[in-house]
Amino acid sequence: MNFSLLSFFRKGKNNSSGGEGIPAEHRHDREQFQEVLQSFQATRVEDRLQVLDLFLSQERHVTLAELMKIIADRRPELLDQAFLQETMNMFCQFGFAQRRNFDNKDTLYEHLHLGRHHDHLICTKCGMIQEFHDHILEERQLTIAEEFNFHPLQHKTEIYGLCDKCLSHRQPSLPLYMAAAGERVQITNIIGGREAKRRLTGMGLTMGADIEIISSSPSGPLVVVVNGTRLALGIGVAGKVMVTHASKHEKHEKQNSDN
Ligand SMILES: [Zn+2]
Ligand SMILES: [Zn+2]
Ligand SMILES: [Zn+2]
Repeated sequence: MNFSLLSFFRKGKNNSSGGEGIPAEHRHDREQFQEVLQSFQATRVEDRLQVLDLFLSQERHVTLAELMKIIADRRPELLDQAFLQETMNMFCQFGFAQRRNFDNKDTLYEHLHLGRHHDHLICTKCGMIQEFHDHILEERQLTIAEEFNFHPLQHKTEIYGLCDKCLSHRQPSLPLYMAAAGERVQITNIIGGREAKRRLTGMGLTMGADIEIISSSPSGPLVVVVNGTRLALGIGVAGKVMVTHASKHEKHEKQNSDN
């Protein structure tokens, strides 16, 4: 199995080698950061090391606001947004942290562990982030770049979707206007009389049809793709069409059992 979940390695404290239960990797990072700060004659070295300790104690992706909350709790004397932002910028600049911007949401910071690359699965409903590393995917990406005579320097692979929990809590059926941009749904029912159904059928909106949501805003029309055609639907029409999220896995299982 080449699919390894990095958070599994990151969570355990088994890799600590003595000290106060701090993983050796983090102690090493702390020493290096101290050296870097001293060589640049940075101000407030001790304070910045305390911020690094708190940041490294978080085995997840955190926003600046979340980090401020942790600091307010544990080291209230360091609570100063400008100082914290400057310190986070230093972590990123000197290679102890990296920024992530998933789906244009708030900037997240995560540890940068040397020599270890990972990619992400992101739940668009609850924001859950799962890290993974897959060497076949990594090699395949390099091969693709080579085929295009492209010289890759770095990459970020992000897979958006629903986590298991959100998928199991999804409503069996919801009106089409409640689906979000980027989602793929399937029509489960059409509400309305024969005339409405006839009109919708004429547009390709039939039972079981796959729909991809291009954009949805409360003010404008809902833009969707059905059978390769873009449709702009008003809320009246979008309220008559009931849909469900089509799970890729479920689809695969269905196709396999059909064969
Ligand atoms: Zn990768
Ligand atoms: Zn979720
Ligand atoms: Zn990550």
